[in-house]
Amino acid sequence: MRALSSVRSSKEALHSSLMSVFAELHIGIDDVDSPRGGCTTHFTYVFLRRLLSEILEARLIDYPNLVRLNPAIPFKTRGNGGVAVRLAVPKGLVSRVVDILHESLDYYIGELGGGGDAGALVVEAPAHEGLRRLYWKALTDYVHRDYLMTLLEKVGDLTHYVRGGRGLVGAAAAIGWYIPSDCTYELILYRNGERCVDKDAFMMAARGLTNALFSNWVDGKLLVMPHGPDPVLAGIRGEDPSALLAFTDPKIYCGSVSGWMIYRTNQGTNQHHIMRADALRPYQTGCFDGVVVSRPEIRKGGDVVIRVAWEGVTTYAAFFRETGLSGVARSLLIGDAVRVCGTAKYWERIGAVIHAETLIVWPRPAVTVRNPRCPRCGARMKSAGKRKGWKCPKCGYRSSELRREITLGKREPLLAGLHVPRDEAIKHLIKPRQRYGKEKVCVPSPPMTRWSDFTP
Ligand code: ATP
Repeated sequence: MRALSSVRSSKEALHSSLMSVFAELHIGIDDVDSPRGGCTTHFTYVFLRRLLSEILEARLIDYPNLVRLNPAIPFKTRGNGGVAVRLAVPKGLVSRVVDILHESLDYYIGELGGGGDAGALVVEAPAHEGLRRLYWKALTDYVHRDYLMTLLEKVGDLTHYVRGGRGLVGAAAAIGWYIPSDCTYELILYRNGERCVDKDAFMMAARGLTNALFSNWVDGKLLVMPHGPDPVLAGIRGEDPSALLAFTDPKIYCGSVSGWMIYRTNQGTNQHHIMRADALRPYQTGCFDGVVVSRPEIRKGGDVVIRVAWEGVTTYAAFFRETGLSGVARSLLIGDAVRVCGTAKYWERIGAVIHAETLIVWPRPAVTVRNPRCPRCGARMKSAGKRKGWKCPKCGYRSSELRREITLGKREPLLAGLHVPRDEAIKHLIKPRQRYGKEKVCVPSPPMTRWSDFTP
């Protein structure tokens, strides 16, 4: 026991003596793209390659983080992702890091001919609670510029602003994802020319790794290539970084690979599904528990809308056909208890509607209540009036003793429980079926595997 505590205290002593000469820097970057191309992760790749070749003493204290934020935010180009890079550098070199970030952005944005919205900052105060709060807000709600600036003022003097565009929200929020939480990894490969993956070679590399991968293919169709003008060749998602290294082999790609980097991410974790007691407002994400209070309305095209209420709060939820959830929503009955999770959007004449991403159903029994049968002729009886019992419309028999018949009907056997979108409809933050049961607590820590093509 004593030996263990002395090892721990000597480790702590080493850490504190290192930190007296090293500064811990958290660099947030977002919105470094233009309609002509570019992408925040690609910029990060270019920036880190230069930074680590110039400042040899710099060490990553975590994999680069690709942090997905609120998917309902209308300004996003694709998946609303910001990036955080966390480094230890000698204290005397902090300003050099800031300069390299400045220069790299100037160059990248200059080449792109856009980037007016770019946001980038360097923070020397990582544990600031306000940044963590900002992460949760940017993940689940709309962040107003005033809110952001008030918060950043509190973070204080140890913040260096490098770019102050709209991307500052995503950049600062990405830094705030400095929390022990479930995480996944994505290997992103960048391209020189056309985008092309050799499917057979890809599936060969995936052999034996299927359990450590998710959302990369469905029914034999690869989902790893984006479609926009950005420099991404492919993104491969997995549970741990070592499984992803198998996909860095350039032979898998018929298009030419200009580089690659592995990111730790909050993708596939449902982190934006926080519980809400009130109805969601437009642009909020989260989950609402309640009871179905309207018959499912089936709209043109097969989408389904229901109304859910709890303790006087009512909300609408929409289940789109392409998610596969509309089939379940159709079978709901008034009185079923549900948890609907998703993102809220504004619908004309209705207000906020949750676009459902997951649904949990606790079905109530299907109960049929009918008037009793006439014991003399077998016909269904009718009420003889208030507190006057029953009267047979066929033979005229009267009775006040008979009771209504209550029978239990059958419900769709697969209705109870959790429903998630079909694999093709899974978006970045949504946890796909194959990740359930694989949740883990990730703690930011230095990379344990090779994490880019420019590191040994
Ligand atoms: P890219 O991968 O090229 O960065 P993207 O899909 O991530 O594309 P951006 O171009 O970064 O989208 O645009 C998203 C913009 O929305 C950023 O400027 C970001 O700061 C901002 N943003 C993100 N989340 C929120 C939020 N919750 N509230 C307000 N603004 C937000």
